[in-house]
Amino acid sequence: MFRQVAEPAEADIPMSNFNQESVLSVHHWTDNLFSFTTTRDPSFRFRNGEFTMIGLKVGDKPLLRAYSVASANYEESLEFFSIKVQDGPLTSRLQHLKEGDQIIVSRKATGTLVIDNLLDGRNLYLVGTGTGLAPFLSVIKDPETYERFEKVVLLHGCRRVAELAYGEMITETLPKHDFLGDYIRNQLIYYPTVTRDPFRNRGRITDLMTSGKLFDDIGLPDLDAEKDRVMICGSPALLHDTREMLLDRGFVEGNHGEAGQFVVEKAFAER
Ligand SMILES: Cc1cc2nc3c(=O)[nH]c(=O)nc-3n(C[C@H](O)[C@H](O)[C@H](O)COP(=O)(O)OP(=O)(O)OC[C@H]3O[C@@H](n4cnc5c(N)ncnc54)[C@H](O)[C@@H]3O)c2cc1C
Repeated sequence: MFRQVAEPAEADIPMSNFNQESVLSVHHWTDNLFSFTTTRDPSFRFRNGEFTMIGLKVGDKPLLRAYSVASANYEESLEFFSIKVQDGPLTSRLQHLKEGDQIIVSRKATGTLVIDNLLDGRNLYLVGTGTGLAPFLSVIKDPETYERFEKVVLLHGCRRVAELAYGEMITETLPKHDFLGDYIRNQLIYYPTVTRDPFRNRGRITDLMTSGKLFDDIGLPDLDAEKDRVMICGSPALLHDTREMLLDRGFVEGNHGEAGQFVVEKAFAER
């Protein structure tokens, strides 16, 4: 029988595959987006950029979805950045989480958006739309990211300015961080852009790259397959457009088996 990764037959999965975690905090960014932190079982290991299955017990069955881990792998708590789909089986419930509530988190994590899947290079571009920012929040908190790449360019595309979650953490909190501050101040370039509101950066990420405006704005040379590396996480449309643009420019896709010049992951599956 064929089953999609993001749609396991929950009833078949033994509960021993999961840890139960307590919600520590919840932050609502907009009517459609929120973040929450939970306790972390010390046995849960992941690489920055990976996703895991999380969910709620509904009746006596787990209701699970794939979620990128937004916290770094050395942090004591777990963080997730979530959409609220009003009739979504999981998020119609998950959006009502409160401090002290319990969620279930798989004991395993996986995913392609890890720097080990990239060949060495000069600059790293992290391209995320919407909740596709989540895996990059852990990648930008990983000191190894800055040891492997000269500049790390974090691009976050949304429709509305209010959806540019985590902007303040990236521009205000991380530069003052004890261990990461120097890396962030010297090597991280954050470039948020929106399509539907007035803002300093406007337009779709692929258009900004193709027109060259992005590179003019950030003062870096145009993409070069020999030197630059790219990670992409977003809607199926963003993945398609960005992948085509990179393949046209001679970039080779990487995966678990073989490191490449770019790697891709869906931020959600379309039904
Ligand atoms: C590898 C992977 C990683 C993921 N990481 C995250 C994450 O970090 N945060 C997160 O919120 N979701 C993430 N998702 C999506 C997540 O698995 C669920 O789809 C989402 O939580 C909605 O669940 P649901 O049961 O409420 O609705 P579903 O029935 O799962 O989805 C209903 C519809 O809502 C839309 N949708 C679902 N998720 C999103 C989204 N994130 N952004 C925009 N539209 C969406 C799609 O059109 C989908 O068909 C990820 C998916 C995959 C495959």
